[in-house]
Formats: sequence, structure tokens, C-alpha cells
Amino acid sequence: MQWETVMGLEVHVQLATHSKIFSGASTAFGAEPNSQACAVDLGLPGVLPVLNEQAVAMAVQFGLAVHADIPEVSVFDRKNYFYPDLPKGYQTSQMYHPIVGPGEVEIALDDDTTKRIRIHHAHLEEDAGKSLHEDFHGMTGIDLNRAGTPLLEIVSEPDMRSAKEAAAYLKAIHSIVTYLGISDGNMAEGSMRCDVNVSVRPKGQEAFGTRAEIKNVNSFRFVERAIAFEVERQIELIEDGGKVVQETRLFDPERDETRSMRTKEEANDYRYFPCPDLLPVVLDQAYLDHLRSQLPELPAEKRERFQQALGLSAYDASVLSASREMAEYFEAVHRACGDAKQAANWVQGELSGALNRENLSITNSPVTASQLGELVQRVLDDTINGKAAKQVFQALWHGEGASADAIIEAKGLKQVTDTGAIEAMIDQVIADSPAQVAQYRDAEPEKRGKMIGYFVGQVMKASRGTANPQQVNGLLKEKLDALL
Ligand code: ADP
Ligand code: MG
Repeated sequence: MQWETVMGLEVHVQLATHSKIFSGASTAFGAEPNSQACAVDLGLPGVLPVLNEQAVAMAVQFGLAVHADIPEVSVFDRKNYFYPDLPKGYQTSQMYHPIVGPGEVEIALDDDTTKRIRIHHAHLEEDAGKSLHEDFHGMTGIDLNRAGTPLLEIVSEPDMRSAKEAAAYLKAIHSIVTYLGISDGNMAEGSMRCDVNVSVRPKGQEAFGTRAEIKNVNSFRFVERAIAFEVERQIELIEDGGKVVQETRLFDPERDETRSMRTKEEANDYRYFPCPDLLPVVLDQAYLDHLRSQLPELPAEKRERFQQALGLSAYDASVLSASREMAEYFEAVHRACGDAKQAANWVQGELSGALNRENLSITNSPVTASQLGELVQRVLDDTINGKAAKQVFQALWHGEGASADAIIEAKGLKQVTDTGAIEAMIDQVIADSPAQVAQYRDAEPEKRGKMIGYFVGQVMKASRGTANPQQVNGLLKEKLDALL
């Protein structure tokens, strides 16, 4: 039996507002527990929420970025349930009239194709507090700093068909929100997390299978691993004659498995009703037009432009547009050197390699974009050869000089293209290597091509790597062949 997997994601994005969605308390991460929750966040009697306009603007910007319908009116509802980290006894959310209607996101797949994933809607809500289990023996601590932090919950249609597609979708959402600057996208700090809905069906069958929902997955890698486990579990269950039950599960990264949390029967009845303390949100066309005019170039548009206007491959374009910082760095290198392909090679090759080795992000790169741009320019105008360029890069990386030109000068790396100088070095090498010359002369003609490598190496060494390798090759061949 062939199985098809079906996934839909509910992504929670913490919006980068300074204050909470309904109060003036700070949203800064990492403060002393319970120092950033005010009476409104705690839902104390007699206080009233006031909607944060910035949160509305951010939600709408996201909607515009995914080409969504933005309804004129949206409404906040109370979602009632009891939990220690929710002192109000309800979460203010949007159930029936979300702020962002249907839209779509383009994801980039490994084979350089793209796929559209439909977005069902996105709604605004407040986050709850946090239960702390580690530091208390026999007790649970509650930190309410996070209570009232604005979240945008983005709900996709069940359009994904593999773990890779689900991860690509999450990456696309991450790119969009960080490009827009509406979230820091920091998954380790919980600024972005998702619930993954997974089901399987026999290939060719139209009806979806019963789904399980894996709660609160907080890394791209965990999304793939949780899905891989869950798909196998469901297929095995069905093939053994069992049935998948609709339930909420938790992914345990340590044991690489999902475990049941609660089934549908135990699910809460949230008794949603419109929040009497908040007015419906009404957005007019002028406001939407204003926000639209402020949208930056988005990842999909950048990717397209990198391919069409700069001639980059689909792969290069997608890697270089994945984050706004990466894209801006690449574009600055390109501006400085004028060659998109070379700029792309250096950013993805030498630079990304060095960043990965030292676990640095591109914003913390010791080599600036203009320094790298100048270095690439010096390769393009033949001031230095490829080998010297790598030395210059290393020197820039370790702060041994302020610019590529300064390092080229200080280290004497300028490429030698003067034929006379190269010929003199060649003559010296030939004079110093009688045995190798004899071997070369006695070798069969088709083997000589390989043997020339020894002489090239010696000449390059004599020039301390600065001779132009093409010239060395050509002149050596002439001189050696003249000895035959
Ligand atoms: P609920 O109202 O119970 O939250 P929804 O219909 O809103 O359920 O769906 C929640 C998420 O689950 C959506 O992202 C949706 O795409 C996804 N989903 C729904 N049905 C399936 C299914 N059979 N398999 C996988 N994902 C599904
Ligand atoms: Mg839901």
C-alpha cells in the first residue's frame, strides 16, 4: 500500500511590539519573573484592555504580504478555559472574525520548483504566562511576564505533502515575518512556534485521514523529525488494523517520538463569545493602502529578481533571499564589485563557510560587505589570483588589515603578470630540476600534460603564489616543449 501524508500548520508568531497587546506592560524577553505583568494582563477586576495599534498594523502587514483578503471588520472573542498560567480564566483571541482572511505563501522546494500553500486565515490573540517546573521542588512556579504578549496565529490549509514541504513552509513564514520586521523570529526564545497537524491516506484516495495535532514544535528540524515519527506511527497503526484517533500529541526531541496529551473526547469546550470589553476593529481602505505602500521587497519577490535581473540560479537566489540580512549583505557585495555571480559565490562559499565554522550570524561577520566587495573586485580586475584572494579573505577575517587593498599591499600579493618576470622564474625552476626535465622529455606525449603540474607548483611557490596561473601554464609548456 502506498501512503500519502497530509499536513496543515498553525504557526504562532510573537509580534515585536514594545508593549503588550492590551496593556502598556513591556514585552522584553528575559526579565525577572512577574516583573512585567500589569493589572490588565492579570485580568484584575475593574480594568479594561486597550488594543495596541502596532499589533494591528503588524497583523495587517503580514496579511498584505501573503496577498490575503483583509476583512473590513474583525472581532475579539474570549476563549474560556482554566489553567494556572492564565489568571484571567480566558484568552482574548479571534475565533469568528479574524483580522486576516484567506491568502497564500510560495515555498521553495529542493528541486528548485516552488509550490503555493494556501493560508486559511490569521488571527490576533494574547499569549499566556509560563509554568516553571525546574526550579521548584514539589511545586510549580508561574511567570506571567509573557501573559498578554501579542501573537499572530497563522493557520494554513492542509496543503503540505511531506515533512520537507512543512519545514519549507515554516521557513517561508519565518522569512516573511522577519523581512517585515514584525517579529524577531527567534525560535529558541519561543518567538515562533507551531502546531503541526498530520494525517495519512492511501495514495489516490480523496478524503483526508484523521489527523493528530503535534503541539508547540519550536525548530525547523523538530518539525521534520516530529512528522517523520508521526507518519510512521499512523501508517503502522492503520496497517495493523487500528485507527488513528484525533488527538493532541507532544514531540519529545530527546526520545525522538510523539506522545498523546489528550484526545478529542477530553477536549475543552471553550465557550467562545465576543469580548464585551473590546470594540470590533474596523479598517478602512486608506489605512490598508498606507500599510501596503510601506511594505519592503519580500523574499519571493527578491528571489524572483535575483534570478531574472541578476541571472542567479534558482538555488543561489533562494539561499541568498532566505533572510533579509543575508540578502542585504549579498546586494552590498554586488554593488561594490559589479558581478552578481562572483558576489554570490563568495557570500555562499568562503564567507558562509567561515561563519558556520565559528557559529556566527551574518550580522556579526568580521568581514563587512564593502570589504568583501572590494576583494572580489580585485579578483575580477586581475590584481590578485584566486589563491591570493583566499589569503586576503583570511586576513580580513582576522582583522589584519582594514581593506583588501591594504592587505594586498602589505603582504605583497599583487599578481605578477609581467611575462619577463614569470619567464625568469620558469628558467630558474627548469635549471633547478634537471631530473624532472629529463623525465618530462622521455615521457609519452599524452602523459606530459599531467607532469607539467610539478613545474607549475614550483613556479607558483617561487612567486609566493602571486604569479598568474594561466600565464605560468602557457609559458611553461612553451619552454619545456622547446627542450624536446
Ligand atoms: P480546528 O478547528 O479543530 O482547529 P481546523 O479545521 O481549523 O481544525 O484545522 C486546523 C489545522 O489542521 C489547519 O492548519 C488545517 O490545515 C489542518 N488540518 C485539518 N484537517 C487535516 C487533516 N486531515 N490532515 C492534516 N491536517 C489537517
Ligand atoms: Mg485550531
